[in-house]
Amino acid sequence: MILTIHRGTHEIGGSSVELELDGFHLLLDFGMPLVGNDGDDFVLPAGKSIEEFISDGILPNIHRIYGGGEPTEAAVLLSHAHTDHSGFLRFLNPAIPVYMTFGTEALLKVSSIFPPKTPMLVNTRIVEVWKKIKVGPFEVTPYLVDHSAPDAVAFLIEGGGKRLFYTGDFRATGRKKVVYENLIKNPPGSIDYMICEGTMLDRLEEQPVQEQDLEEQLVKILRDSNQPVFLFASGQNIDRLVTAFRSCKRSGRILIIDLYTAYILEKLKPLSDSLPQADWENIRIKYWKGHADFLVEGNENNFLYKIKAKRISMDELKVLSPNTLILTRDNATFMQLMKHLPHNIKPRLFWSMWNGYLQKSKHVKPYAEKYGLSIEHLHTSGHATSAQIKLLIEALNPGKVIPMHTFSPKEFEKIADNLLYLKDGQSVEMK
Ligand SMILES: [Zn+2]
Repeated sequence: MILTIHRGTHEIGGSSVELELDGFHLLLDFGMPLVGNDGDDFVLPAGKSIEEFISDGILPNIHRIYGGGEPTEAAVLLSHAHTDHSGFLRFLNPAIPVYMTFGTEALLKVSSIFPPKTPMLVNTRIVEVWKKIKVGPFEVTPYLVDHSAPDAVAFLIEGGGKRLFYTGDFRATGRKKVVYENLIKNPPGSIDYMICEGTMLDRLEEQPVQEQDLEEQLVKILRDSNQPVFLFASGQNIDRLVTAFRSCKRSGRILIIDLYTAYILEKLKPLSDSLPQADWENIRIKYWKGHADFLVEGNENNFLYKIKAKRISMDELKVLSPNTLILTRDNATFMQLMKHLPHNIKPRLFWSMWNGYLQKSKHVKPYAEKYGLSIEHLHTSGHATSAQIKLLIEALNPGKVIPMHTFSPKEFEKIADNLLYLKDGQSVEMK
């Protein structure tokens, strides 16, 4: 079995790993970079051909996996829906099967209707967690993990007499932390290689905040204040949506979401009965024309019809706002809301994403500065701390640990000793 990490050995984003056995190419994730060569946010150059992307080092040079025609023998295992793991699937030959969980497919569908409107794959194969499947010459077992993307998995891959564990992205502080604890207690044995994410290794070690703690903090905030509270969170961070909903329920507030978020919840409904839905009590929906238009274009009129009674008008929101928690994002809709809400009430603003994104904020940060409002923080990361990574490495006890999904692979030296450092594009025979 030959292993090549095409991208991700020295960065967070663009995750793309290839295993080759008996002429079969198994890709683990096929992500778009987050950071470009200039150190700025990565932007996919427009109007270039696949050949140009390959020669520019943007797409990995893997024979016959792109475009149409007869593809090479290949398959993709997708750990979760975040763009840094899935963003380049659009270039893949549509005949190549892409294996993913139900929740991952649901989120990719949402991204095909709402911007970036990434075309949906045609050859999706849904995997069940813990259930071993055969993919070409490999045997693959998806392991459910706790991450900020719902239904994210790690993979155990067996082939050529070797066992490899690919962590994908994981943490141990979310609403699914029990799956991390169970993995520590009952790890798959005899792991030869572990490809391990290390996002947090070079970030300041903070006491990990549990999602449950955020709920307690938010309940207190909602009970103690009589202003509208804004929570800036990703609509795809399902744990955070649950936190927002439960906090509203416990404090008697109304949770305001937009159509995009309502649609994500609808699509993920089969995952859990405790996932809040737009037609539940305590939830109202703020319509934005753009969102409604995308749903109509995506033939989702039935969904719009089903939830229309939950729509909240701007006039109603004006009156109710001191008793709401408004889930929003750093975009023009926030500015629209601020324009219409009563000027005598100062809102409380909570940033519920990675702090790095706040530094690039185009709307809320300038707004808060202009009106002298403070932006408070209410967040826990989607990634494991170094102590949590160390525990997992010890539990799996692999022959070799291969660092990935980190800007500082050398930081692994503090938590593991049997390290195998790879460079992007370097191939190794797994003996
Ligand atoms: Zn990632």
